[in-house]
Amino acid sequence: MLGYLVILNLFQDQMSQHINLQRKLTMSQSIKVLRGQHKVIIIGSGPAGFTAALYTARANLSPIMFEGSQPGGQLMITTDIENYPGFENGISGPVLMDTMRKQVQRFGTQAYYKTITRVDFTSKPLKVWADDGTEYTSDTVIVATGASAKYIGIESEKKFMGFGVSACATCDGFFFRGQRVVVVGGGDTAMEEANYLTHHASEVTLIHRREGFRASKIMLERVQKNEKIKFALNTVIDEIVGTDEGGRKSVTGVNLKNVNTGEITFHPCEGVFMAIGHQPNTDVFKGVLDMDGVGYLITKKSSTATNIPGVFACGDAQDSYYRQAVTAAGTGCMSAIDAERYLETLGE
Ligand SMILES: Cc1cc2nc3c(=O)[nH]c(=O)nc-3n(C[C@H](O)[C@H](O)[C@H](O)COP(=O)(O)OP(=O)(O)OC[C@H]3O[C@@H](n4cnc5c(N)ncnc54)[C@H](O)[C@@H]3O)c2cc1C
Repeated sequence: MLGYLVILNLFQDQMSQHINLQRKLTMSQSIKVLRGQHKVIIIGSGPAGFTAALYTARANLSPIMFEGSQPGGQLMITTDIENYPGFENGISGPVLMDTMRKQVQRFGTQAYYKTITRVDFTSKPLKVWADDGTEYTSDTVIVATGASAKYIGIESEKKFMGFGVSACATCDGFFFRGQRVVVVGGGDTAMEEANYLTHHASEVTLIHRREGFRASKIMLERVQKNEKIKFALNTVIDEIVGTDEGGRKSVTGVNLKNVNTGEITFHPCEGVFMAIGHQPNTDVFKGVLDMDGVGYLITKKSSTATNIPGVFACGDAQDSYYRQAVTAAGTGCMSAIDAERYLETLGE
């Protein structure tokens, strides 16, 4: 009888061990089904994306990054950056972005020169598709797709971009100390930029294609009261005029066209600021991630979390207000930490 009980106990022990093992296997299999090929996918390679990559790579999360159609982001089209901390004498935009790329590569970030054209965040793992049709799955996705400044679209605007033509007064106003500048636009951004530029420029001319303004009354009044600001209404820029000596280009003025009479006049200036708005690069997330009327992604307060668990947004794609490289980098860092903590909740 005793022998029989011992055998029965042994049998029961083995059975319960077997059942536990089965349970564990089933659980780990079901977790595996839910987990992606990657822990972190970063979409975008501006300051926000590179900073997110730096933090997640150093946290051993082996991020992969999609660089999109503008590897390095908006700073690739500017010359000198004097307000990114750490560079006493400033640094050129492309050099800064190349340095950021090398820094994240040092920690093993895998970057692809591909654009994400489709996402499916309805279930886990999160899925994204690149423009060559390849599907990638991940436990977290960090959206760092930035925004694009709108330009008027003339050839000379491209030619002098970064050499007198800019879309960011906060960034480049300082370079026009004591010089004449024009600002193009009729909304709040244009008013803000024009006002700001009066701290540096000797004269600011606001060029607007209509008589009336889209800007709020209070912003418009502030500009109208500012003695340094002149108006050129019913007017558009026909051409940006400048010199190109020894490869160093500079703006000398703009040919202005009166939209009513067609008359063209030359207006001398050294700087041209486009202030006709920005478009966040978020079309691919329409109907998936919460966004405002313009397309800026909405994140939860004091966090980079979007409405989808595991998806985080940083940089200009979710910031219509500050729009600076250092703030983009700051939120890139936040999204990396948010992603890391989210992964911890999955048992990482
Ligand atoms: C002319 C100009 C001068 C500026 N000068 C300064 C300055 O002096 N100092 C300063 O602090 N700021 C400056 N800024 C602002 C600064 O460039 C931005 O605030 C900053 O680049 C935002 O960083 P980001 O990483 O959010 O996005 P971005 O730099 O806009 O980068 C977005 C990235 O996302 C990628 N992307 C977009 N869609 C997709 C997709 N579907 N799939 C894959 N990738 C995608 C793009 O290819 C790009 O790599 C300037 C801006 C401009 C336009």
